[in-house]
Amino acid sequence: MLPEIQKLLVIQDRDKRILALHNDLKRIPMEETMARQKLDGDKAALAAATADLQTTEVAIKNLELDIQTRQDSIAKLKVQQYQTKKNAEFQAMTHEIERYGKEVTGLEDRELELMEKAEAQRAVVASAKQAHAATSAIIEEDLAKLVERKVNCEAAIAEQEAERATHTTGIDEFLLSQYDRIFKHKGDSAVAPLTNGICGGCHMKVTASTLNKAKGEKEIAQCEQCGRMLYVAG
Ligand SMILES: [Zn+2]
Repeated sequence: MLPEIQKLLVIQDRDKRILALHNDLKRIPMEETMARQKLDGDKAALAAATADLQTTEVAIKNLELDIQTRQDSIAKLKVQQYQTKKNAEFQAMTHEIERYGKEVTGLEDRELELMEKAEAQRAVVASAKQAHAATSAIIEEDLAKLVERKVNCEAAIAEQEAERATHTTGIDEFLLSQYDRIFKHKGDSAVAPLTNGICGGCHMKVTASTLNKAKGEKEIAQCEQCGRMLYVAG
């Protein structure tokens, strides 16, 4: 194998690792968003349960006001009853008091129903809160792991780049820039094995002259299809 190819393969090995690390790094923000989205369902469930409970609590307060109004009327009528001397008026007031009394009973029954409903809704709110808290804890853990992964990725990239730099010294600048250009353009490799006359990069058969050039190992042969630098592997 040409010594230049050997050196480039070492560099390419680093570049592949750096590329994989960069790809991993790129996925982190998306994974953070996905982790946060897991909470959305729990948040919505908690908000809906809280809203339901509030509606019931408002309805109970309104009923209590209605009951109080009628009880006030009853109290007032009772005072008026003591003051009146007219029997017909007294009777009419008794009817009024009874009517309000029945209304109060009806409203109190309704209030009792709503209080039971509120109790059930309070249990739903409590379990929704619990679910939200449990999910939050898991997400916090996931997010912390993602932060750690980001730090590790960045450190590994720096390490690989430093190592790469030690391997690029002494390599022909033009050859290195050619290699860089191909690697960037192809996105995966710039140096590929040639196996049974097939380029390992694009999987096309190379011409006989390219095959001979690669076998000769005097100068770098390039695949005429994809431009990758070739070395004979078999
Ligand atoms: Zn090729």
